[in-house]
Amino acid sequence: MSGAPESGKKLYEGKAKILYATDNPDVLLTHFKDDATAFNAQKKGSIRGKGEINNAISAHLFKLMETKGIPTHFVELPSPTQMLVKAVTIVPLEVVVRNLAAGSLCKQTGLELGSLVEPPLVEFYYKNDAMGDPLLTIDRIRLMKVASDEDVATLRSMALQINDVLKEFFNQCGITLVDFKLEFGRDRAGKIILADEISPDTCRLWIQGEPDPKKRVLDKDRFRQDMGNVEEGYQQVLDRVLNNPSA
Ligand code: UDP
Repeated sequence: MSGAPESGKKLYEGKAKILYATDNPDVLLTHFKDDATAFNAQKKGSIRGKGEINNAISAHLFKLMETKGIPTHFVELPSPTQMLVKAVTIVPLEVVVRNLAAGSLCKQTGLELGSLVEPPLVEFYYKNDAMGDPLLTIDRIRLMKVASDEDVATLRSMALQINDVLKEFFNQCGITLVDFKLEFGRDRAGKIILADEISPDTCRLWIQGEPDPKKRVLDKDRFRQDMGNVEEGYQQVLDRVLNNPSA
């Protein structure tokens, strides 16, 4: 299997990752960057060591999903900042799952930060930077023909299964999984599999038993809200993930 990114053509550069071709058409190489953006790229910065940390956390969680029967695009880690992944066509929906209210849910509904969302909420956003990733309804997804009803049902069911696995896993790490965003892709056979990443860039993660709302945050909200010690938050998530007794 191909290794170094220099060997393959750059296919796409996103806000946090670069995608390269490899000499195997079924496999692509993702390079995780330290670059960070927020508020639809209006805020830009860099988080030292983030690429390596997010690559390691994502790999660990993808492997966990595979053990639970949830298919992912993960292949292997050729280096600390690189992940080999199965080539997929990304479904242009960002699937957000929420266990506690935070972020845009609080802004748009008036729910208090941290209030319980039970049963968990599954939301679909249109993956389109120019449009600011708008929140969709099922009827809009149908109207826009972004995905079939069957695909939406599959995404919802996979997202909820992933939530069950992640919630339990993070709980064992002493971390509450507040909410997170997933992306899915279709492989050559048309099967929908989990893609992208699962990391403090894409999840809200709170330390359990920490009453101070500023100190409990370990994720990208440290960057979004200029809370400081962003690297330390990401590193703490990695340490807790790697030290999970069930891992
Ligand atoms: N999220 C993400 N990418 C996005 C938007 C959201 O990874 O483009 C994640 C975010 O980190 C959080 C969850 O999805 O864990 C829900 O985000 P929300 O809708 O509350 O938006 P935000 O407050 O981040 O603007």
